[in-house]
Formats: sequence, C-alpha cells, structure tokens
Amino acid sequence: MREHDRFFIGGGWAAPAGTGTIEVISPHTEEVIGRVPEGTEADIDAAVAAARRAFDEGPWPRMTPAERAEILGRLSAIYAERQQEMAELVTAEMGSPLGFSIFGQSAIPQMVLQYYTDLAASYTWEDERQGMLGPVTVTREPIGVVGAIVPWNVPQFTLMLKLAPALVAGCTVVAKPSPETPLDTYLLAEWMLEAGLPDGVVNIVPAGREVGAHLVAHPDVDKVSFTGSTAAGRKIGAVCGEQLKRVTLELGGKSAAIVLEDADLASTIEGFKLASLMNNGQACAAQTRILAPRSRYDEVADALAAMVGGLTVGDPSDFGSEIGPLVARRQQERVEGYIRLGQDEGAKIITGGLDRPHDRGWYVAPTVFGDVRNDMRIAREEIFGPVLALIPYEDEDDAVRIANDSEYGLGGSVWTADPDHGVEVARRIRTGSCGVNMYVIDPNTPFGGYKNSGMGRELGPEGLAAYLEHKSIPRPASA
Ligand code: NAD
Repeated sequence: MREHDRFFIGGGWAAPAGTGTIEVISPHTEEVIGRVPEGTEADIDAAVAAARRAFDEGPWPRMTPAERAEILGRLSAIYAERQQEMAELVTAEMGSPLGFSIFGQSAIPQMVLQYYTDLAASYTWEDERQGMLGPVTVTREPIGVVGAIVPWNVPQFTLMLKLAPALVAGCTVVAKPSPETPLDTYLLAEWMLEAGLPDGVVNIVPAGREVGAHLVAHPDVDKVSFTGSTAAGRKIGAVCGEQLKRVTLELGGKSAAIVLEDADLASTIEGFKLASLMNNGQACAAQTRILAPRSRYDEVADALAAMVGGLTVGDPSDFGSEIGPLVARRQQERVEGYIRLGQDEGAKIITGGLDRPHDRGWYVAPTVFGDVRNDMRIAREEIFGPVLALIPYEDEDDAVRIANDSEYGLGGSVWTADPDHGVEVARRIRTGSCGVNMYVIDPNTPFGGYKNSGMGRELGPEGLAAYLEHKSIPRPASA
C-alpha cells in the first residue's frame, strides 16, 4: 500500500487545501493499493504560484541549457537505475502487462529524458542572420509556466513527452496526472528531489477533470500541453484559443494497419501483437483497423484469430501475461459495450467476445471482428481495449482510401515484402506517423496527429520548439 498525504509543490511536500482523497485500485485484484490527496483548485493555484515564482525569479530559466542538462542528466541516471520499480508501479496502477511496461511505461520515458538532455548540447539556441538593415540575432526563450495534463494509459510516457522538452527549454511545470495513476508521479518527484531540481520547477497535483480545467484556464499558465481524449482536447483547445495561450494537443486515434498483397503473413501477424494490442489495446496509436486484401482475407482472418485467441490473459505483474485487465470497471463495460455494438452492426466475432476471461479483475477477452465495414461505429470510434476490426479492401487505392476515411490521423502501418513500396504507401496516409512492417514511436522523431488526433508535435527537435518562443533582435549594421 502506497499512501501519500501531500503534494509535490515548490520543491517540497505541501499539505493539501482540501480533504478529499483519491484511491488507486488494482485493476487485477480490485483492491485499493494506494491513496493520495485529491487536488482542488486551491492546490492548483498554489502549484501555479510556485511554478510562476520559479520561472520569474528562480535560477532555472536563467541557467544555460548545458547547466539544466547537467541536472536532468542526474535525474535520467536515477531513472535508468530504478526503471524496474517504475514499470512495476505503473503495472500495479493500471494493468499494463509487465513485459510491455518495462519498455513502454519506463524505459522509453527514460530514453526520452536522456534524448532531450543530450539535445541541449546540439540544439540551435541562438543564431545570427543577415536582415534587410543589419544583423539579426534570433534567440529561443522558454515559453514560461506549462500546464501538463496527462491520461492514465501511458502516464510516465505522456508526462515525459512534456516534462523533458519543457525543462530543457527552461520552462517550469505544473503537472496534473490522472486520478487512476497518481502514484508513479510521486516516485518521479522523489527522484527529482534527489537529482537536485530547483524548487518549484516541477509541481504535481493529481486531480479530476474540473480541477484540470482550472489549470488550463489559469491566467499565470503560459502554455498547456495535453494528452487525452479528443472530446477533452476540443474543450481545452477552445479555452486556450480564447486566451491565445500556446497549446499542444495529443488526442485519440483509430489507426489502420494495411496488409498488402505481398506481405509475409507470419511476421505481419506477430507484429500486430505490439502494433495493435500494446498495453491491452489502451494505446492512442494502436492499429485497431486491420485492412486485408480481399484475395487474402480468409488467410488473414484465420491467422489473426489464431494469434489473438492464443494470447495469455492474466495477472499483469506476471511476466508471461500478454494481455492484462483494463484500467477500470467503466472501461471494461465500455469495451464490452462496443463488442455488443459490433454484433448489432452485423460484424462477426471471429475470436473473443463477451465471456470474461477471469471473474475478478477488469478483464475483457481479446476480440477480433471480421466482415467489418469502415462505416460501422466499431471502425470509426476509439474503443481503447483489445478489440480489432478486420476490414477487407479491393486494391491498394481502396486500402489507402479506407485508411484515410477516419476523423482521426494519428498512426498507421503498412505491411509488405517490398519496404520501398511500403514507404510510398505510407506517404499517402494522412497521419502523423506511419510505420512500414512495424510501428514505433522514436524519441528523436516527431509524434502527433493530423485531423482530430491533435495539434502540434511532441518528440524530436520539433517537440522542444513547442516550449520555446523565437525572438528576433535586429540592429543597424555598424559603419
Ligand atoms: P481524458 O481526456 O478523459 O483525460 C485525460 C486527462 O485530462 C486526465 O488527466 C483528465 O483528468 C484530464 N481532463 C479531462 N477533461 C479535461 C478538461 N476539460 N480540462 C482539463 N483536464 C481535463 O482521457 P483518458 O480517458 O484519461 O485517456 C484516454 C484518451 O487519451 C484516449 O482518447 C487516447 O487516445 C488518448 N491518448 C492520446 C495519446 C496521444 O499521444 N495522442 C496518448 C495517450 C492517450
């Protein structure tokens, strides 16, 4: 049992303003495994005030990028040493299978931190240009106080996509984790203290959405970086638009994996274990629409059903489990609702269905729907669970059309024996990323969405630019 009774604010542990608590419940045992105070608007005000002070008066924005990188390097080293502990904690909180968690919930966040720490040395922080009337210095300055709001599915990853570039840039941060996954941020806060991050540079207040909305609208917050649902992203974007506040939005997805005629089926289907079903299917970029050529439809359906039907579903802390429970009962019921809906819409379950694999814990059977049409709701809406929709296509143009016929535009993939041709097809998909014979999110390449999947990019140098204001300082040419 992990119990915390304070918030990480101003470089120490601050008493909460309210009396509410958040209970963290294991999705596997349905028992309480941790407790933290529930943040209120007053706690957000205290956290923003601390971040504002640290930005306006503290050393952090005034240090050189190299000085900041030195401190972040210490944090990265602690993170690297204690990765396993972080992976186990996130698994306990939200049910990510440990095999995935070690990589996706802990190793990758650490790699992202290390990437931005290293980027500080090579990034162009300032350059000289020749203007019309004389030389111009173009410099990059930190945007200011950042409100970082993250979901429960990949809590450390989504937080680090914001924290690492914001900190390297010289910003200060107020982070609001989801009520489902606050515990991992306490561990990170302990590491930040150990690393010697100056007071108030990062402040953390776990809370619900109304309190999150208070952070978004707070006049002392200069930028909001949000990862979560498209519905919440629209509201947040509207508030930021009204206030002309900088904003980055990483939202939902309904990504397509296109299996081309010449694809090697065995490796393609194996690849879907990660690309389509990572994190129990609770991944924004999961390739949940599988597009198969009609000529090979039966073959793909059989292989996909065999793979998905053969997955080991069970205790996520057990290294052998490939699929764990969903985060909460409401998510289990939501996904089961979609399984019912798919049947009502006329799609055919080819493996899985409504029989729960375990009586206790929020498990759903990994499920594949065959005979799906792209206009069905199970092909259009984000289900956020281990449920795949297999959609037949006629030819390559048809596959590209179906892949692009979505309100979302986050990820995707193309599976083929001819990777060069795969790249050509990937170029035609209107998404922020599209893999060939794999799907991966790399620390040094931009990640984000077209269309309703968001605005802006995280990762890579592009993700650092999102925390910087570019300032031009022109002056007359000297005689
Ligand atoms: P959610 O939108 O309900 O909540 C996400 C976070 O935002 C939580 O911390 C929540 O408390 C807060 N929040 C919600 N409404 C808010 C508001 N109006 N103002 C301020 N804060 C608010 O999403 P969720 O159910 O926690 O997460 C799942 C969603 O996240 C999925 O749609 C998934 O696709 C998306 N996601 C996207 C990415 C990406 O990078 N594109 C990554 C992971 C998850």
